[in-house]
Amino acid sequence: MFSYEEIKTIRKQFPIFKNKNLIYFDNAATSQKPFQVINAITKYYCNFNSNVNRSVHFLGQLSTNWLELSRNNIQDFINAKYSEEIIFTNGATESINLIAFCISKLLKTYDEIEIIISHSEHHSNLIPWQVLSQNKNANLKVIPVNSEGELNIRMFKKLITKKTKLISISHVTNTFGIINPLKSLIQTAHKYNSLVLIDGSQAISHITIDVQNLDCDFYVFSSHKMYGPSGIGILYGKKKILDKFPPYKCGGGMIEKVTLKKTIFSGLPFKLEAGTPNIAGIIGTNKALNFLVNYSIRKIKTYEKKLLKYAINILSNIKGMNIYSKNSNLTNILSFNIENIHSFDLGKLLNNHGIAVRTGKHCAQPIMDYLKINGTIRLSFAIYNTIEEIDIFYNSLIKSLFLVNI
Ligand code: PMP
Repeated sequence: MFSYEEIKTIRKQFPIFKNKNLIYFDNAATSQKPFQVINAITKYYCNFNSNVNRSVHFLGQLSTNWLELSRNNIQDFINAKYSEEIIFTNGATESINLIAFCISKLLKTYDEIEIIISHSEHHSNLIPWQVLSQNKNANLKVIPVNSEGELNIRMFKKLITKKTKLISISHVTNTFGIINPLKSLIQTAHKYNSLVLIDGSQAISHITIDVQNLDCDFYVFSSHKMYGPSGIGILYGKKKILDKFPPYKCGGGMIEKVTLKKTIFSGLPFKLEAGTPNIAGIIGTNKALNFLVNYSIRKIKTYEKKLLKYAINILSNIKGMNIYSKNSNLTNILSFNIENIHSFDLGKLLNNHGIAVRTGKHCAQPIMDYLKINGTIRLSFAIYNTIEEIDIFYNSLIKSLFLVNI
């Protein structure tokens, strides 16, 4: 567990907290960036800027080496078997869209197809499957959840059939922070020969990821939620499956040979990475990864759990409080409502105290509709948050409630 002093030192690495009045509890939307990440990006543009995979000059070689080093480090971080199983995209959303595009190309039109998602998916892990299902006349099935947002695994076992081609599910839900029971779900899916995509957007900087142990077929996440820059996404896919994928975009950097009549495409990972990548973003992502490895995901998880427990405890005493994050298998997210108060109103009042929380439906409208609520207030913690901040938040909330009630 981190000591108070350690957290203070870590916090100093984030320039945004020079603003002493800021309390940032919106880490599930995006995390803040440490100096290491910002400096690496600046250094790259100041001293080494060049394109990758093209030039023989030393700058081009350096950029290419860094890009591949980042790929190798991501491979280690999630324990992928091969480095070419790591594909750079511009975000988790693009990663999911890439998989949906390629899968739709592989599906035979005469196949009877089923795709399964859960009721509490982020729109990024819902709409691509909805569109694919409409285009391919597929059946989009939905695993129900209970009033606390937990998956109904019994129902999942009834939904899956031999026609199920893919199950796409979040590792940790962005609404309530629940860690879904993936292992048994993946085992069941594979018995039916279905592929499994895990949306790791809310898991990657909070729990240890081992894709080989999970045995998922795809795992996707964004760098900006793990202390890295925006505009970088990671797509992990098992090599034997990605090998079958057609190119998603076409252009430079993904070919073996081109004539006016025909193109022979490169192998993995380049086949799926057309055009100049976000090199600075990939270098920044590598630094974010170093940051996470250095402070250890295991220690971060324990610390965030402590913050979460403290916050749940202190908030539970408030009259009219309804905490949705009740599951015992939580990460860093606390979602709540207070009776008869709209989340936007409270969010705005908290903002007057310099507190950044997320309010609304969190890009997950179906689960909000199911719970018959028009949103929640979501606190999401990161390594630099403190118990003192939660105390200030609590006092500001009480003052805000006083204002709302008069
Ligand atoms: N899935 C989940 C669970 C998320 O929380 C988010 C981001 N809020 C996304 C997907 C999409 O991530 P991005 O916008 O970085 O592509």
